[in-house]
Amino acid sequence: MKTIGLLGGMSWESTVTYYQIINEVVKETMGGLHSAKILLYSVDFAQIEECQAKGEWDKSAEILAQAAQGLEKAGADFIVICTNTMHKVANEILEKIHIPLIHIAEATAEKLQQNNIRKVALLGTKYTMTQDFYKQKLIDAGIEVLIPENEEIEVINDVIYGELCLGVISAESKQKYLAVIEKLAEKGAEGVILGCTEIGLLIQQQDTKLPVFDTTQIHAQKAAYVAMQEEK
Ligand code: GLU
Repeated sequence: MKTIGLLGGMSWESTVTYYQIINEVVKETMGGLHSAKILLYSVDFAQIEECQAKGEWDKSAEILAQAAQGLEKAGADFIVICTNTMHKVANEILEKIHIPLIHIAEATAEKLQQNNIRKVALLGTKYTMTQDFYKQKLIDAGIEVLIPENEEIEVINDVIYGELCLGVISAESKQKYLAVIEKLAEKGAEGVILGCTEIGLLIQQQDTKLPVFDTTQIHAQKAAYVAMQEEK
């Protein structure tokens, strides 16, 4: 079994979910007392968020590249960045290491294609929803991407940083998210990407008729299968 290098802490609330899902998949697949070989480098999210807010992406790339180098030195066979947003600097991180990275948007695009989804709603941070670094991977896979209206983008983003990343799960915010999902479904979305690793803490498949694609689950499952060298 390969050793997974988790680059986490963004936020730690969702890194917990990665750890759990990866181990569950390994247990289900291999049985018995098998568990995943995982190295975790958990950063101080306040530092990363400050870089995001100031637009200091190079600085955040440096911090994460150093962490990834640490994981490589410690014996990780590949890297998993446990956040959608920080894939904005995935290429800069890759330049500094000699091991591969499982890209969260590529894993998600693959899953959407397997499910024949051609038009999808994307919820995430304002960076993920409005910038190209993430959406382009989906578009390249032949998938049309719908994002919320401007005021809704602010609401979705504020709930992520002001609640979910702090472990706050609110019924009111859940209703706001569901209203946005409903609107995007009316515009023709055939599925919704929970494109922020904390959204799965708020919204699950049973909350909506629209097929839900939770990037934390997709990414963590993929990491487990790659580690076990299983096709899935
Ligand atoms: N975990 C979130 C994501 O998947 C947001 C936190 C961050 O900015 O990294 O995008």
